[in-house]
Amino acid sequence: MALKKIKNKPKILMVSAEVAPFAKVGGLADVAGSLPIALKKRGCNIRVAMPLYGSIDKKKYKLKKIYSDLEVPSGMMMIKVNIWQTILPNSKVIIYFIDAPEYFKYKEIYASGDNSERFLFFSLATLYSLGVIKFKPDIIHCHDSHTALIPDILKITNLQYLKNIKTLYTIHNFKYQGKANPIVLSTGNLTVESLKVLSKDAQDGDINFMVQGVLSADLVNTVSKTYAKEIATSFYGAGLEKIIRKRKKDLFGIENGIDVNFFNPVKDKFIKQKYSIKTLNKKQENKIALQKKLKLPQDKNIPLVGFVSRLAWQKGIELITNRFSRFNCQFVFLGTGQKEYEDQLLALAKKYPNQFSTNIKFNVELAQQIYASSDIFLMPSRYEPCGLGQMIAMRYGTIPVVRATGGLADTVDDKTGFSFNKFSKQEFFNTLKQALDVYYDNPKKWYKMQENCMKKDFSWNKSAKEYIKLYKKLFNL
Ligand code: ADP
Repeated sequence: MALKKIKNKPKILMVSAEVAPFAKVGGLADVAGSLPIALKKRGCNIRVAMPLYGSIDKKKYKLKKIYSDLEVPSGMMMIKVNIWQTILPNSKVIIYFIDAPEYFKYKEIYASGDNSERFLFFSLATLYSLGVIKFKPDIIHCHDSHTALIPDILKITNLQYLKNIKTLYTIHNFKYQGKANPIVLSTGNLTVESLKVLSKDAQDGDINFMVQGVLSADLVNTVSKTYAKEIATSFYGAGLEKIIRKRKKDLFGIENGIDVNFFNPVKDKFIKQKYSIKTLNKKQENKIALQKKLKLPQDKNIPLVGFVSRLAWQKGIELITNRFSRFNCQFVFLGTGQKEYEDQLLALAKKYPNQFSTNIKFNVELAQQIYASSDIFLMPSRYEPCGLGQMIAMRYGTIPVVRATGGLADTVDDKTGFSFNKFSKQEFFNTLKQALDVYYDNPKKWYKMQENCMKKDFSWNKSAKEYIKLYKKLFNL
């Protein structure tokens, strides 16, 4: 139900370290940049706040300074910040930028080393800015460890305008927890003693921001239903499963969406031949174009298997082995990351240049071409909070072969793809074989699966509805 129907609409402030298109490192930026727009379209009164990084082009995005020299008491210091404002592109969603040059004048979003002090100050300054901007939220929606201490600050504040604000904490990746020496707490005017949960957490000597967010927010969610269950187990819980279990009844799973306008084979400007569910036969022309570009033998009948990913431990790259050369198909890899994985994929291309193409770079154009040209898309992830690659692939009629974990388990079924459970080379090999067998032996079934994929709704609408339910729950707490 849209919020329009509620007389007294809650005001929501979303606070994030990354918001696309202003500053992006990963999926968090996509969520914080797209979800508020979908929520606003459904009648939510929502605004966003993020740090003003040195890399943000004020002119290009038409930022206006709306407040100068706001004094923020932080520990023993008084730090002055400015507040800037613009709207999220193609929307009416207002976004505030907290301008604290001491912490954010640099181009990098995440400085090397410890970022806890920077983002704790951002969290504090965002709260102080609510005293001077014309927006008094009922709910603050925090994302990942960077803004995880907002609920704690709210709990001990004496500032009247920060009273009675409810909080939602969204976990995008449980592995990146933000650990810091408790000394950092003074930046947020917090102390280990002032909060019960903090003293418990500080027993190992460090403050874990993720733990604080999970324990202190009024409600918690992560980005798929399966991942919400997984992080309560020892295999995925990274030692924090007991803490997660404490919040079991307040923990929800809401799948991310994708930008279905950008990821759209009907109007994708990066691909050679546009196509739709009705003209799926044209997809093959993209395969020929990509084979030519990457110097693979040009053959529209041979299945092309794509992989676009950060090359990180999470992604299960070691399950791709020399044995894959036995398959009658071609492989295209695109990614950057840990050297050992880059070397592993480069070695395959070196050994079998007519079958494997490895591209070590970050390139959106090539990524789109791979999604559009491939017949099969691989995601053998060790864990995957939600995963965007499989959704993008399906939107382009490319069949995913995935490990059934997190969001992959929730978005891929046997009508749309192939999945395996055990994290093993053999299982992955067998599952890819199964997919190739259907490709070669049962084209009718293959075509039907492609259709099923392309008919799925991966827009933000579904997620927005679920978030509205949580906001309503919070509002009524
Ligand atoms: P994660 O957020 O863990 O990196 P996701 O599957 O949620 O994984 O999202 C990854 C996104 O980044 C996808 O849209 C994928 O296409 C894109 N991506 C990853 N690596 C590259 C690359 N080297 N070049 C272009 N796009 C990439």
